[in-house]
Amino acid sequence: MLDRDQLSSLVRLIATTRPDEIGCDECLEEVDRFVEMKLAGLDASEAMPLVQDHLDKCRDCREEFEALSRALRAVEGS
Ligand SMILES: [Zn+2]
Repeated sequence: MLDRDQLSSLVRLIATTRPDEIGCDECLEEVDRFVEMKLAGLDASEAMPLVQDHLDKCRDCREEFEALSRALRAVEGS
């Protein structure tokens, strides 16, 4: 059984988690498209707000995003 503290933190968790959030798996599936849009000068955060939202919150995915940006920029620059 959950005790009172566990229950209230669970309720808080549910209340603050928006149903339209994505997780790392979905983010990583979309992030290359996201980077390509940005490099093309398009408003990626407008087109893919859930990816932007996740990148703002998740350090791992942001690092992935930055590494990908650097790699693609390097390819374009060559
Ligand atoms: Zn993530």
